[in-house]
Amino acid sequence: SAAEAGLYTASDQIQPLTPENAGALLVNSTAAIVVEFYASWCGHCVAFAPVYKELARDIKEWKPALDLAAIDCAAKDNRRFCSSYGITGYPSLKFFHAFSQASSTGRFIRGFHHDFSAIRQKLIDKLETHKDLWPPACPPLEPTSQAEVDRLFETNSVQHLALIFEKNTSYIGREVTLDLLQFENIAVRRVLSTEKDLVTLLGVTDFPSCYLYYPGGTFTRLQVNLEARTFYSSALQRLPGVVRSGKPPPVSLDVLANNTKEPWRPFNSSRVYMADLESALHYSLRVEVAAHPVIRKDALTSLKKYVAVLAKYFPGRPVVMNLLRSVDRWLQSQPGDEIQYEALEGILDNSAQTPNTALPEGETWVGCQGSQPHLRRYPCGVWTLFHVLTVVQSSSGGSTDPREVLGAMRGYVRSFFGCRHCAEHFENMARESMVGVRTAPAAAAWLWSRHNVVNNRLAGALSEDPNFPKIQWPSPEMCPSCHTVDANGDHKWNDKEVLRFLPSYFSASGILTDYLE
Ligand code: FAD
Repeated sequence: SAAEAGLYTASDQIQPLTPENAGALLVNSTAAIVVEFYASWCGHCVAFAPVYKELARDIKEWKPALDLAAIDCAAKDNRRFCSSYGITGYPSLKFFHAFSQASSTGRFIRGFHHDFSAIRQKLIDKLETHKDLWPPACPPLEPTSQAEVDRLFETNSVQHLALIFEKNTSYIGREVTLDLLQFENIAVRRVLSTEKDLVTLLGVTDFPSCYLYYPGGTFTRLQVNLEARTFYSSALQRLPGVVRSGKPPPVSLDVLANNTKEPWRPFNSSRVYMADLESALHYSLRVEVAAHPVIRKDALTSLKKYVAVLAKYFPGRPVVMNLLRSVDRWLQSQPGDEIQYEALEGILDNSAQTPNTALPEGETWVGCQGSQPHLRRYPCGVWTLFHVLTVVQSSSGGSTDPREVLGAMRGYVRSFFGCRHCAEHFENMARESMVGVRTAPAAAAWLWSRHNVVNNRLAGALSEDPNFPKIQWPSPEMCPSCHTVDANGDHKWNDKEVLRFLPSYFSASGILTDYLE
């Protein structure tokens, strides 16, 4: 379709606008909507697309109050439609207020540059121009006062109130308010540095700073590495009792046993477990690959590369390594362009009865346990496995192909990974940027950053385990030095520190062997 041929795909969290869905999207919507009118042939638009995508990722939590859309005005079916909105140049951004009438053609957002944080501030200014018909999901954005805070506790059963103290030119308070709008049991308000009563009452001297304020007047300062938006937002989203609206609250760990029918295995959430890696191997080789009774051509090439990489880099127990090497030798010696799974199965199950050679049967999830049987487990194991493999490849030095592990992963996912939707997304990411990987450490970093793109897309989705929320990983608690801010105060990864953290986290020597048979 025209929408798909344009500059954005379904993974970008940007709604494709068409003449057909314009009524549903723009008219009488409960959220304000920003539309980018672009032409796919226009170089400026191509250059702007990454900025708009970054904006979409940055403000995805704001969706119920403010959503983003885009339309390719170069597509034949869209031309007349675009001109009816007064579009003469590309890219153009227009703001549609919540509850817009059918006759509304939106308001131009002028003077935006290739700086998504500046656009984000313009969008807040526009949101604040709503008068009577305020978007219902949008919390109040104006500064609060002592009187209002007292009233809030009288009329509301809110568990936490976060007060962000800031100068009147700062947007952080409003940004954090919007970042938390999909979360329950918390309210966020901004307080200006000129609001003497509250500033004096709490003894506030830093602007910005964030305080948690409780009924009866007790308060504590929110502890963060840096006084900046993303640090506030992620700390507030993780406060006890704060949950994403519309999701069942996290189950406490002692009742989990009843849900999964398996005993809950206590584990350290900042370590890697061999039990997860072996479970992933078992499931991939004995279940996913087994779904192909005959493995031929591309799939066979993918399987050979996958097993070759396992035999070379999997940091496994000697028995498992013996098995992987024997499977690898057998596969490499197959001359034709197809094999029967049954034949492979014989090797996997060590039908020759070679001593000290085995891949344990069955799944024992530990770090990848889910609070429900349909959550986490295998896909978690796949990510973990490949992170470990990229790190082991990188630490093994040598002058091999830097994309050896990534290429094997790409082939495996494309040919065998059962979640076809996931495979398609992963293939898109691989096609987009995998060739840019020139060194083995860069391969580990590429997988880390792509995994975060997936986490970002899936945060809040039904597949998210409420006990293991999708975060931009590693969290500030796991690796404080990995996080920093840019000149705008926006979150930025300290890439050097991440490159130091990955090998320590996923290294062979750090893997725990609890729960192995
Ligand atoms: P996972 O995301 O599986 O992560 C496993 C563990 O890796 C985490 O517990 C954490 O310790 C660590 N980790 C997290 N982030 C990073 C990072 N950035 N770098 C390094 N380590 C990290 N599901 C969909 O619904 N749609 C999709 O399109 C989709 N695509 C997928 C593509 C691939 C290739 C794979 C393997 C899985 C995909 N999934 C997709 C599944 C999804 O990504 C999760 O694996 C699944 O929801 C389980 O999530 P989890 O909470 O166990 O953590």
